[in-house]
Order: sequence, then C-alpha cells, then structure tokens
Amino acid sequence: MMISPKNTGWIEVICGPMFSGKTEELIRRLIRAQIAKQNVKIFKPAIDDRYSEDYIVSHNKRKIKSITIKKADEILKNCKDSDVIGIDEAQFFDLDLIGICKKLAKKGKRVVVAGLEKDFQAIPFGPMPQLLVDAEYVMKVSAICMKCGDPANFSQRISSEKNQVVIGEIDKYEPRCRNCFEI
Ligand code: ZN
Repeated sequence: MMISPKNTGWIEVICGPMFSGKTEELIRRLIRAQIAKQNVKIFKPAIDDRYSEDYIVSHNKRKIKSITIKKADEILKNCKDSDVIGIDEAQFFDLDLIGICKKLAKKGKRVVVAGLEKDFQAIPFGPMPQLLVDAEYVMKVSAICMKCGDPANFSQRISSEKNQVVIGEIDKYEPRCRNCFEI
C-alpha cells in the first residue's frame, strides 16, 4: 500500500485457497492495528466452529479475540466505536455482507476481509467475488500444491461430500495447483 486514505475508509480483501495463510495475514494486520491503539473488532460466522468459539485461530495456533455471529447485519450493531473491522471466513456470510462492508468503509472504517474466493469446485464463493470487485486493496495468497509442489490456488476436496459448505481441515481438503486440481 503506497498511500493510506485519510478522508475515507476502505476495504481490504485477503483471499486464496485453504492452507494459504489468509487468517494468519488477517491476524497480522489486526494485531498491528491493536498495537497502534486502534479499536479493532473481529467477526466470524457461527458456521465455523473449528478450534474455538471466541477467538480466530490460524493453523499455526496464533489467536485473536473475536465475535461469532450468525448474520452479517450483526456486524453493524457491534462496531460503532471501531476503527478497524476484521472479518474472517467471509465466504460463509450471506450476501448482505457486501453492502455492510461498503457502508462501513464509507463511514471511515478500515474493513479487512479474509476468505476463500472460490469453493471446492472453483466456483465464486458467497459474497467474496463482489467484495473483490469493490475492494481498494486485494491480496491473493497461495498455498503449495500437495501433489507437485507448485504454488496452489485451488482447494481440492478429498472427501466425497457434495455440499458447497463442508467444514474440514487437512482431513477433507488439500491445496492444489491448476494442473493438479480435479473437479
Ligand atoms: Zn500441482
């Protein structure tokens, strides 16, 4: 980021496949803001109850206190005094999240969104595509393909479930590159 806006808020999106360090990058940015004494609030969808209810935890077990919510509009009620709003696993939120992030940015807030931009079939996931279009800043992070070692941009489901939302870790998914990804 060359110049940070002074008169407006903005939206940052961190996206990539599973095991690419999205949550890690979100936590890094939010902790940096907390150190600068900015008021930070972090939200995550109730659907994701891996590891902990009250913290966002990255795969390497670094954690930051979070608020678990069921619907995106609960963000507005909970962040009146916040400077920075973090949202993890944004792909699981309803589409209302798009308008809410735009509204918060217009109000002068920094909104940092992390999520999977595509699902296990490489289809755009929930509110993520529109957030990517709207964001001022986008970072795509990659994982490493478990088949060949190239940079991985896809989340391969290795279990047989067919629903879009199947919560799992390395037991159900592995990062794959374009060539090794199979639908
Ligand atoms: Zn590969």
